[in-house]
Amino acid sequence: MADSFDVIIIGSGPGGYVTAIRAAQLGLSCAIVERELLGGICLNWGCIPTKALLKSGEVYEQLDHLGDYGLSVEKRGFDFRAVVERSRKVSAQLNAGVAFLMKKHKIEVIEGTASLTKGPDSGKGGAPNVVVALKAGGSRTVTAKHVILATGARARTIPDAGLEPDGDRVWTYREALVPKSAPKSLIVIGSGAIGIEFASFYRALGADVTVIEALPRILPVEDEEVSKAAQKAFEKRGLKFRVPANVKKLTKSKSGVSVEIEAGGKAETLEAEVAIVAVGIVGNVEDLGLEALGVKVDRTHIVTDGHGATSVPGLYAIGDVAGPPWLAHKASHEGVHCVEHIAGLKPANLNAPIPGCTYSTPQIASVGLTEAQAKTQGLAPKVGRFPFRVNGKAIASGETVGFVKVVFDGKTGALIGAHMIGAEVTEMIQGYMLAMTLEATEAELQGAIFPHPTMSEAMHEASLDAYGMVLHI
Ligand code: NAD
Repeated sequence: MADSFDVIIIGSGPGGYVTAIRAAQLGLSCAIVERELLGGICLNWGCIPTKALLKSGEVYEQLDHLGDYGLSVEKRGFDFRAVVERSRKVSAQLNAGVAFLMKKHKIEVIEGTASLTKGPDSGKGGAPNVVVALKAGGSRTVTAKHVILATGARARTIPDAGLEPDGDRVWTYREALVPKSAPKSLIVIGSGAIGIEFASFYRALGADVTVIEALPRILPVEDEEVSKAAQKAFEKRGLKFRVPANVKKLTKSKSGVSVEIEAGGKAETLEAEVAIVAVGIVGNVEDLGLEALGVKVDRTHIVTDGHGATSVPGLYAIGDVAGPPWLAHKASHEGVHCVEHIAGLKPANLNAPIPGCTYSTPQIASVGLTEAQAKTQGLAPKVGRFPFRVNGKAIASGETVGFVKVVFDGKTGALIGAHMIGAEVTEMIQGYMLAMTLEATEAELQGAIFPHPTMSEAMHEASLDAYGMVLHI
């Protein structure tokens, strides 16, 4: 067992473990420190298990519409424990997959909690030492030429509201993934991806769900037209919204939890069995010894340069702990870039467009600038739209909700943004992501051949629409 490595990575989420694999591919000796489960939040408590739950909810909700497809079923129902168990099994499978990948690439996994101390060459360009409080007991000090922090983030709470998430009546995403039974009523505070995905899942299972959002519209990072269409589609499914509304107080009540809010100048008290707090996340910057080393931290994230380097030589940070956007694929991309830079390669562009997806019903996906952002940046955007209600495949599939909206730079024709709402748009957004990464223009998208019949034809039509050439309207 070596105690000295080329690279030590702290945290094994999609940022950390992918970075470790790339480091090994580059011939660097590598160790990864993890205090909980390989795969981090994404695989164990985030992206993956929520997708498993959402699939169960989606299939169940589809049963309401069987008649539309000429089908029927005699009895419908669900076993909530089995739904949760399936989600946990999916996570466990992927967690084992990461363990396999670490072994395959001869990456040493050190189980424990890491912190940093000054190394022998600190101040002379040497990386800090890594001290690990081992899960099995005791501690171990390991050293490396380069240390990469990939410690991720955790749920932000609303301390002013008076009741912190307690796992009983007030949940974060963690408890929301593994409850013993499905709540019959639910208040979701925050309408970002986490809030909307849980609202969508529990509504699919029949819960009475109210979403509270402080900003003037739900999914506020999305294009305004998408936010509006999403709220309309969610309301059709029975979801309720208070937008904009401020949460004043959270208290335990006989039936569960009371949430006092103020909306439009009026006070209102909402009651539900459970509240989920989904108001953003904060980077895990604590207890790492950053202050003593003089690492620059901006409130809840570590400040890095264009390659992930922190203010301390030999120390890097990637993923959620290095700041927004807090997305798994951004973390992996940053990690690969960082370690390739360490190895002296010319890594891929760190500023490549980053798509964002919300896996609700309907789904939402986007990349690049919204129309409003383009205008704020002084660009003269050329915008095209195409609704799924006139797309052949969408009609045949009974999935006509939603649309595609594209934003081009009016001057150069460059694709600068794409925004979609509808079934499977999270699988389609990569088309626009690639187009933007390859710096495609309107003419290239318009001249491309999209397969028929697919919902992706709406992407072609939206590009045509921006220039007055739409075919099927
Ligand atoms: P978020 O920042 O995306 O959304 C939080 C929302 O809560 C915002 O709209 C904010 O205005 C609102 N809010 C804040 N304080 C509030 C208050 N007191 N009362 C009411 N509303 C309030 O955060 P999130 O949804 O918690 O997600 C965290 C991060 O994880 C995000 O960056 C998100 O993109 C990422 N994530 C991504 C996915 C995905 O890709 N599908 C899934 C889950 C999380």
